[in-house]
Amino acid sequence: MEKDNGTGIGDKTSHFQPMTHMEGSQEPCVWSSPGGGHKIDIGKQIFCNRSLNMKNIVAVGFDMDYTLAQYKPETFETLAYDGTIRKLVYDLGYPEELLEWSFDWKYMVRGLVLDKKRGNILKMDRHKYVKVAYHGFKEMSKEDKVDAYGTTLIRDAFDEPDYALIDTLFSLAEAFLFAQLVDFMDNNPGKVAKGTDYAHMYKDVRAAVDLCHRDGTLKQMVAKDPKRYINEDTSIMPMLKMLRDSGRSTFLVTNSLWDYTNIVMSFLFGSHTPDGSSSCSFDWLKYFDVVITGSAKPGFFHEDSRANLFEVERESGMLLNTDNGTPMPQVGNISPKLLLNGEKKTCRVFQGGTVGHLHKLLSIESSSQVLYVGDHIYGDILRSKKVLGWRTMLVVPELENEVKLLWGLRDMRKQLRLLRNQRDLIEDQIHHLKWSLKFDGISDDKKQNMSSKVDELESQRNQVRLAHQDAQRQCHQKFHKIWGQLMKTGYQNSRFAHQVERFACLYTSQVSNLSLYSPDKYYRPSEDFMPHEFDILPI
Ligand code: IMP
Ligand code: MG
Repeated sequence: MEKDNGTGIGDKTSHFQPMTHMEGSQEPCVWSSPGGGHKIDIGKQIFCNRSLNMKNIVAVGFDMDYTLAQYKPETFETLAYDGTIRKLVYDLGYPEELLEWSFDWKYMVRGLVLDKKRGNILKMDRHKYVKVAYHGFKEMSKEDKVDAYGTTLIRDAFDEPDYALIDTLFSLAEAFLFAQLVDFMDNNPGKVAKGTDYAHMYKDVRAAVDLCHRDGTLKQMVAKDPKRYINEDTSIMPMLKMLRDSGRSTFLVTNSLWDYTNIVMSFLFGSHTPDGSSSCSFDWLKYFDVVITGSAKPGFFHEDSRANLFEVERESGMLLNTDNGTPMPQVGNISPKLLLNGEKKTCRVFQGGTVGHLHKLLSIESSSQVLYVGDHIYGDILRSKKVLGWRTMLVVPELENEVKLLWGLRDMRKQLRLLRNQRDLIEDQIHHLKWSLKFDGISDDKKQNMSSKVDELESQRNQVRLAHQDAQRQCHQKFHKIWGQLMKTGYQNSRFAHQVERFACLYTSQVSNLSLYSPDKYYRPSEDFMPHEFDILPI
């Protein structure tokens, strides 16, 4: 079987023909300000899997981390990596030499799957066929890959508990560290505690990463210097303003707690003190109707969840019990300011609760009136769409570079498709000749001729195949030297792309791309194509 290194050239979506201009040729249209053209940079377009008429949307909600706030992986994920190593060494007894390790933040990508028991990192297609497999940092041979993951149609589900999905950018550091530990254990069996296996190491890494997120290791550093860890994005505020001016409610639902949410949002909305840190003027709250922190997504989306909703007192961060959002009188005289001031706040801040509370607070009648924008297929998108019926938009920052590369490589892709067709054509001729040779009654001379033709064609086929493989490898490495194109595995959609297609109504590279489209836009998907249509319809 031909070696396929994950580029996906010539697949069924190769009819990709953006109707818009390329970067830099015109000022983009920004609906959050008057005027502007109508061309949208291809890297900033919103792509549609499922029709969505914004006119039917009454509330637009946002996740915060990696959606509104784009962390800089080179600093933020390195912080997570370093913090995790320290916990492994000082709390869990791993060797001190780990402290000298460093993190290549570009190595891992979203959509990979960790095989915890075998110590492997996998990239698979939408049929869960493992196309690229590494043991630690060592590429697995085709035989080892087939031995472990088979070739039949019946495949493992590749889900928890034996596998871990790298489906948020928060997981890149733990995936890299897992691969490093697998290599380390293979090469230094004596240096790892007796009885430790790959799965055990994964568990330790997961626990250490989890603790870094919860004990302040990461958040205190970000709070001290948000600019170092989060991209500034001046287009978020006008985008929210545009949505609100168009009559939509806006809300935030984040798993981060109030203190941290306030720091990150104040930074994004440009409330800085002279020393660069964020001030807490709460100005950003005027761009939202409701803010829910500590939401515990995806549980938050379960309509039968019974999580209590607390109101947060903004200045002190104190929590106040509520009865479905209505503040409850406190026993004794200990009510925070919240109950005493009668001011009508533009935005109320809560912690916990469920989607039922949110619908009530925003007077949502039907869940299909809500559009939620998030970065995490499982945490933000899958449940909210599948269980609840919210409309969804997935933010995929990697997409901007991916579509730009696709655009730049379109001649190469055409060439690849030609080589692929040529190879298939020659193969068919070989099969035909070989089949004909089996028939009786062909003269020896003719047989001789046919056999030489087969030899000639086989040599041609090998040349074309090599040329194809080489071109494919080159193309593949333009996206990522190991894992190739995010949305493709070979000629098929990657598992990640398949999830995007199934669960996200819309997807785009940055949340603020919403401001490039009318708030009343009718998003319509492109036409579906099946294999039988390709040679018939002009594409
Ligand atoms: P959201 O994306 O705005 O809902 O927020 C995600 C929150 O989850 C952030 O506060 C992260 O620090 C936190 N987070 C991400 N990964 C982990 C983890 O592994 N354990 C605990 N918290 C996490
Ligand atoms: Mg998020």
